[in-house]
Amino acid sequence: MKVGVVGVQGAVSEHIEAARKAMKNLKVNGEVFWLRKAEQLKDVDALIIPGGESTTISRLMIKNNIFDKVKELGEEGLPIMGTCAGLILLAKQVEGAVEGQRFLELLDVKVSRNAYGRQVDSFEAPLKLTFDKKPFLGVFIRAPRILEVFGKAKPFAFYKDEVVGVEQGNLIGLAFHPELTDDTRIHEYFLRKAL
Ligand code: GLN
Repeated sequence: MKVGVVGVQGAVSEHIEAARKAMKNLKVNGEVFWLRKAEQLKDVDALIIPGGESTTISRLMIKNNIFDKVKELGEEGLPIMGTCAGLILLAKQVEGAVEGQRFLELLDVKVSRNAYGRQVDSFEAPLKLTFDKKPFLGVFIRAPRILEVFGKAKPFAFYKDEVVGVEQGNLIGLAFHPELTDDTRIHEYFLRKAL
């Protein structure tokens, strides 16, 4: 299995490590690599778009000629997981976007950038998952808030009553950062889509 972590900006190496660990737990052979160039997209089985700064990631993906191809692959069913800024990139509707900022517009959610406000812009909290009984530690860093889930997207992670993780066929979008914990359950759940 070949997994690319879009590595133009943001928390890339943590995702690479988490995906490698998840693969090992799933007893799958393969590689996880930094993805910066269009030609690397040729034979990926899954893609991760990390957290960072969505404006910058979007701009650099366009500059590196990977933006349109990633959109196309996502529409064709390639498994893509976006965390935090990556979720913003995947969303069909974004509140608080910088003018001219482009999004992949794949996931049926409306998100609001930096919506948790200054006081609590970064925090940790236990989350409920629909696919497992054990809670998951959610690490939120200037996280986007999922305001609406529509169409084909289905919530699967909750902070109190709020949706913080959604799934839509091949796509996963998370407001938090699973790569910053030792818990690889969500990476495993994601990689199963590429088996
Ligand atoms: N606030 C960032 C943005 O809007 C996302 C933060 C993150 O990815 N940790 O792009």
